[in-house]
Amino acid sequence: MREIVIYWLGNMLNKRGKKMSKKKNVVNTLSSERTESAYLNFINSINGTRIVDPLNIPKLKRSYWIRHDVDISLPHALYFAEFEAKNGIISTYFLLHNNEYFDYSENFANIVKRLISLGHTIAFHNDVLSLWWEDKTKDIISLLNPPLNFLRQFSTVEGTACHGHACHYERGYINYEVWKEYDPTKNYGFEIKCPKISLNDVGLKYEAYFLPYTHLYSDSGKNDIGYVVGNSRMFEKDALLSKRNIGLKVIDEFNKEDSGFLELLFHPIYWGRK
Ligand SMILES: [Zn+2]
Repeated sequence: MREIVIYWLGNMLNKRGKKMSKKKNVVNTLSSERTESAYLNFINSINGTRIVDPLNIPKLKRSYWIRHDVDISLPHALYFAEFEAKNGIISTYFLLHNNEYFDYSENFANIVKRLISLGHTIAFHNDVLSLWWEDKTKDIISLLNPPLNFLRQFSTVEGTACHGHACHYERGYINYEVWKEYDPTKNYGFEIKCPKISLNDVGLKYEAYFLPYTHLYSDSGKNDIGYVVGNSRMFEKDALLSKRNIGLKVIDEFNKEDSGFLELLFHPIYWGRK
């Protein structure tokens, strides 16, 4: 029965995706020029205070926070981190524990240390439900602790951000559903029946999608996904398919507010030198 439901959900999303893409949401796009200078222009177009700790969001001001999900190519992420630091931009790099670059080697350790010495924060890019999916007898905490403990040799690690992939939609889960703090009335999800733990059980303090952002920008899939959050906290893919995707205009909307919190998600691989 569960397989049928998952198959049905996958099909429904595929159909919905095709239907929505025919509607051609018109969105300003940067996709043809994701150069270093385009990135700086983008960041400079934001009228707000950049913060490095999303657990300390100023209440009465406009503030924004930059998150980088390192899905592939750690060397490119390091290149981009050096470029940001040279330009006075400090951000948070989320490292993907089940990617081949996360190999516990000395080389990997050196790159993590370099990211930290540049002033950036390191955090955890979470794909634990994919590991659990492969072997459902596995304990979530024992899947999470080895990579977290490795990173914690070099710095505190307080943040996590869920990794998304098309296959997760087909299977019917979003990685943040592993957290007890996941609230289906506040965040998009499938409500998969999986083992759940608290962020605190593995020493984490926040999940990036649960932060109280009022505006969200994401470059996922080399798109420009932007929306004013309001009561809905959609996942990136749903934001992209939704009429609520206003792309880069989300920056103008944010700049108009007296206060608010803009979360920016970039994938370094899409930006700068190839
Ligand atoms: Zn990811």
